[in-house]
Amino acid sequence: MRPGERAYPVARLLYNPRFDALAPLAIAYCAGPEDVARSIAFARDHAFEIAVRSGGHSYGGYSSGSGHLVIDVTPIAGVVPASAPGRTAVVGSGARLIDVYNVLGTHGQLVPGGSCPTVGIAGLTLGGGVGVFARRYGLAADNLAAVTLVTADAQVLRCSPEHDEALFWACRGGGGGNFGVATSFEFATHALPPITLFTYDFAWSAAHDVLGEWQDWSRTVNEAVWSNCQLLSGAGTSLRVAGVSCAHSGQTAAWLAPLLTRLPAPTYSFLGDETYVNEMMVESGCSGLTVAACHLDTTFPHGALSRQAFTASSNYVSAPMGANRLSAAVTAVDRLAADLPGLGGGLVFDALGGAVNAVSPTETAFVHRRYLASIQSSFNWTAATPMRTVAAGARWLEHVRATVYDPSTGAYQNYIDPTLTNFAEAYYGENLARLRAVKRAIDPDDVFRFAQSIRP
Ligand SMILES: Cc1cc2nc3c(=O)[nH]c(=O)nc-3n(C[C@H](O)[C@H](O)[C@H](O)COP(=O)(O)OP(=O)(O)OC[C@H]3O[C@@H](n4cnc5c(N)ncnc54)[C@H](O)[C@@H]3O)c2cc1C
Repeated sequence: MRPGERAYPVARLLYNPRFDALAPLAIAYCAGPEDVARSIAFARDHAFEIAVRSGGHSYGGYSSGSGHLVIDVTPIAGVVPASAPGRTAVVGSGARLIDVYNVLGTHGQLVPGGSCPTVGIAGLTLGGGVGVFARRYGLAADNLAAVTLVTADAQVLRCSPEHDEALFWACRGGGGGNFGVATSFEFATHALPPITLFTYDFAWSAAHDVLGEWQDWSRTVNEAVWSNCQLLSGAGTSLRVAGVSCAHSGQTAAWLAPLLTRLPAPTYSFLGDETYVNEMMVESGCSGLTVAACHLDTTFPHGALSRQAFTASSNYVSAPMGANRLSAAVTAVDRLAADLPGLGGGLVFDALGGAVNAVSPTETAFVHRRYLASIQSSFNWTAATPMRTVAAGARWLEHVRATVYDPSTGAYQNYIDPTLTNFAEAYYGENLARLRAVKRAIDPDDVFRFAQSIRP
């Protein structure tokens, strides 16, 4: 698809309208590894830059670029369930998360993923993939059994622990767009567990205490329980502890009791058993929609979800935060609500530990294995928001970084952050040298490059 074609103005769009100015030379919709190989060869012959696109959710807009050939794997979207839970499912690299959940879920299987339904399986898995089942079953990348990748010299490689092991290692957390174009993923599946959803809202005045108690509870509770603590600004401030447990509601309530007895009475509470696909629809913000509607309206004919402009950054919590850091987190959200009431956003603390930390930091390329939680700070806006307000939001994020973050813990490569100067160390830590060695071996000419790619 090229500029001038009727569908091009929409086809070039990514999830985040921040990147709407990007105008690729062409988009090559690839139906299989052969198409990908021809596209790479064509781009190299004509000295075009390549951008690789699956779900188009890159926080840095790195799956497009003006003057680039976009290699789009959306047509490679098949999801083939395992013959039985516990065996291997095959997922095309253009599949969106909600389709993976729906197809596998209706066969009694799951692969742990992320929360946003429209995210692509490729970007998610290559950068790790953290979601509500991570404490129980690990990252998406931890469940990868093999990945098929088209390399810069247009070879099709099936990488696994037995073949091209170094590249397989790099594809489990080394980040999308660095080593080649993934065309399919083979995942170990899990039988569906019982599932309970829970949500507790509290008065904002309790934010310091709730966050403090939550961080102590969330790292010690049974690994079947995943949760987050959300300090948000929208119309005022709001405070929520929400989560998912791989157990029935009675057992989950017992696991929650030590936390709830230490907190003030919630202003809203919900705890209930749920089925897997419904649970993922709820997590996805798709309650009341069909699966077909739980897609972006720009990319899918029946999609009912809209794109969203946002900016975000991330960090990790290595040990329980002391009173000063807790206060800084609460103050930052107070400040967002008071100074920039037109912006939604805030700080979300997602529990880690459990199966994520049972893997050593060097066993896969995903290095962030010693932390009790991640922090994602973000703000979002609409087309009506003045650009000076967006600029003030960016300054607010800098304030969060300076007052709440621990620079020694790094940042999540899937929340890729164009403002980070030490990005390679922040995303990959002690795995960086080995990732560079893999890059030198597989892509010595640096064909797959973008502003924050791994350099050979
Ligand atoms: C609303 C929202 C919610 C999110 N929630 C979560 C979450 O719960 N958990 C989580 O872990 N992450 C989450 N993320 C982050 C998400 O995992 C990353 O943004 C991810 O990179 C998106 O993948 P994508 O395929 O959709 O995006 P793309 O923009 O298509 O790709 C992202 C990167 O991967 C590369 N890439 C894409 N396809 C391929 C391919 N086939 N082969 C090789 N490289 C490829 C791109 O070039 C780009 O550099 C969320 C993001 C958003 C916007």
